[in-house]
Amino acid sequence: MKYLPIRSLRWLAAGLSLAIAVTGHGAGLSLQSVRMHEAPDYTRVVFDISGAVSYDLFVLDNPKRVVVDLADTEAAASFDPALVALGRKRVRSVRGSKRSEGYRLVLDVVGALEPRSFTLEPVPPYGHRLVVDLYSTVKAAKPTFVPKPEGKRDVVVAVDAGHGGEDPGASGPKGIREKHIVMNIARLLKQKLDATEGYRGVMVRTGDYYLVHRKRTEIARDAGAHLFVSIHADAFKGPGVDGASVYTLSDRGATSETARWLAESENSSDLIGAGVNEVVSGEQGDYLLKAILEVSMDANRSASIEVGEWVLDKLDGVTKLHKKRVEQAGFLVLKSPDVPSILVETGFISNPAEAHRLNSPGFQEKIALALFVGIRNYMESRAPEGTLIAWRREQGGQRYTIARGDTLSGIAVRHGTSTRRIKEANGMANDRIRVGQVITIPAG
Ligand SMILES: [Zn+2]
Repeated sequence: MKYLPIRSLRWLAAGLSLAIAVTGHGAGLSLQSVRMHEAPDYTRVVFDISGAVSYDLFVLDNPKRVVVDLADTEAAASFDPALVALGRKRVRSVRGSKRSEGYRLVLDVVGALEPRSFTLEPVPPYGHRLVVDLYSTVKAAKPTFVPKPEGKRDVVVAVDAGHGGEDPGASGPKGIREKHIVMNIARLLKQKLDATEGYRGVMVRTGDYYLVHRKRTEIARDAGAHLFVSIHADAFKGPGVDGASVYTLSDRGATSETARWLAESENSSDLIGAGVNEVVSGEQGDYLLKAILEVSMDANRSASIEVGEWVLDKLDGVTKLHKKRVEQAGFLVLKSPDVPSILVETGFISNPAEAHRLNSPGFQEKIALALFVGIRNYMESRAPEGTLIAWRREQGGQRYTIARGDTLSGIAVRHGTSTRRIKEANGMANDRIRVGQVITIPAG
């Protein structure tokens, strides 16, 4: 279940406010600010209020507007409704007025929108919030891509910047937020993919808004992704822990104490971001999750681990590794049964030195490049069917699987070619090869 009907939420909110009134804290709430996050299919309007609020919400037509009555609430002196809607696409303007029983906000909206609302408990850095999501009732047209000739498609990589919107992810010193850092790295990774012939990056979230995990994997599948990469930055209880790690989905839950702790904190972000528990729980949930995971395991487990190893290999050169091997954990965002998926924790925001590094454009560039080269090396070795890179391989030369003890120069000599030509044919940036890697030996 994603959203409760508005009526039952009203009831809930009224119940909460009643309970609070009994304990004597109900009076005199203050509306501090109203923030907006615009997603492709909805706009999230967030009311920051000093306590749990009882509210009423209804829609009026001609012109279309959404009215929110906040009971027992006054606007803070600093709150200016006129500024809220500046430059927004679904909300033209916001007006506020004091009423005897509270404060009324009127949102003048554009187009056919359906509001859904719920309240959120305080989660740092935020306090009590009322959330009104304005959904476009007209489905936005899916982006169309120029179709590539059959058999020469791009390798599509879905690039998922973790968290977003009301869910900031991990927080570090000086207001450093995971959601912004991972967005920067994701954009850089997309740029590198798009700049490489035969590859295309698809951003899973394109701005500062939240997407539930199921929606993220759905976007990847809709885009025909060959790989899903979720980018995150860690937080831990102590400031001393640092380094990057790469995760794939496990069927037995976490492989280590840290992994389990992380899995819980990442999964719980659905609670924070959507206000609704997306985690399947209870006996039935366990059964369902197990079934999903078993399917996932068979088709994707080895592919996900393999791409994870390639990425880890490249991260090794640019940052400290928190874990030297690809870890497995129960991250919900990795549960695509048919798209190989990895989750990269780029470092620990809870470590002040690493937070500083993660926040710097130079380091973000290095991380993005490592992700790109790792992904490309994997794709070159696997060449997904129907793609340009697979076609190129078929056109020229033979395939060779790297064995233990091989060197690139040794292979070149044996096949009467040069290391330079082999690297060109395989899009390799350096001489590093890996046991089991399949390369193309150029013809002639
Ligand atoms: Zn995260």
